[in-house]
Amino acid sequence: MLKLVVCIKQVPMVSELPWDPATGTLQRDLAEGMMNPACRSALDTALRIKETAGGEITAITMGPPMAEEVLREAIALGADRGVLLTDRKMAGADTSVTSHTLARAIEKACPGFELVLCGFSTSDSETAQVGPQLAEELDIPGVAYVDEIEVSGGAVRMRRISDHFLETLEMDLPGIVTVTTGHYAPRHVPLGGLQAAFTAAQIVTLDAAAVGLDSEWIGAKGSATKIRNVYSPTAGKKNIVLTGAPKRIVEQLFERFDDKIGGAIGKDLKTDKNSK
Ligand SMILES: Cc1cc2nc3c(=O)[nH]c(=O)nc-3n(C[C@H](O)[C@H](O)[C@H](O)COP(=O)(O)OP(=O)(O)OC[C@H]3O[C@@H](n4cnc5c(N)ncnc54)[C@H](O)[C@@H]3O)c2cc1C
Repeated sequence: MLKLVVCIKQVPMVSELPWDPATGTLQRDLAEGMMNPACRSALDTALRIKETAGGEITAITMGPPMAEEVLREAIALGADRGVLLTDRKMAGADTSVTSHTLARAIEKACPGFELVLCGFSTSDSETAQVGPQLAEELDIPGVAYVDEIEVSGGAVRMRRISDHFLETLEMDLPGIVTVTTGHYAPRHVPLGGLQAAFTAAQIVTLDAAAVGLDSEWIGAKGSATKIRNVYSPTAGKKNIVLTGAPKRIVEQLFERFDDKIGGAIGKDLKTDKNSK
């Protein structure tokens, strides 16, 4: 049976993230969590593979305890089990440490895994680094930005759009792919799935010690990159709306900006006007 792993990140359910400008941190408590859209596509891809080629799907996430919600959602949609990586020590991980943590947990909790699926990017940080770094960490081949995938005979065939060209690639397993949001329309949770997500205990929770992580290579402490400042850019220009009939608008334009317009066309419009 094909062993599929889907990496799922819980992201805030907002298009504009609420930042606390004083601390430079994300105010996660102001936004509900949801499954990152590209992770939904990765899960959908795994479900399609399971439906055609058979297989067992493990959904894995690293995050605060509430990230369990996305694992339950994944199980409701058809995943077989979930792995929640949660530990205060894991907080503040940069992309490199996130990939390292996920890789060690996949090796620990999913021995014999064959295909790892990730979203191509997340809606809250959108670095698109975790998938390719995970391939390095697991020392397996990886293909990014895939929009169609087919598995047969120990290999995967994938299609992706690259620089306006369609590419077809083949990769031996074990391997990793990152999936775009372009191709598959994610499915809705069936009622039976909801029941499955809350009845059987298919979620295991692992902390840093259970994964066997080195305390020097974990969370903010192990991360080489640090955020120095986070801020919303403020517009430096003021917008002015001129209203009225076209003639009046032109008059207002010259009243307000004749110096600038005159400078641009090399004429002193005030003297020019007075001399007429
Ligand atoms: C306030 C703030 C500060 C940050 N500071 C830094 C920093 O200093 N340095 C730095 O490198 N990064 C920083 N990040 C980014 C943070 O480390 C990332 O959220 C995390 O490492 C994942 O990167 P990403 O979301 O860009 O994932 P991407 O690479 O865009 O995600 C691709 C895919 O990887 C998988 N994936 C990603 N994260 C997880 C997860 N937690 N669990 C399961 N699967 C996952 C999913 O399948 C996802 O679709 C910061 C983010 C925030 C909000």
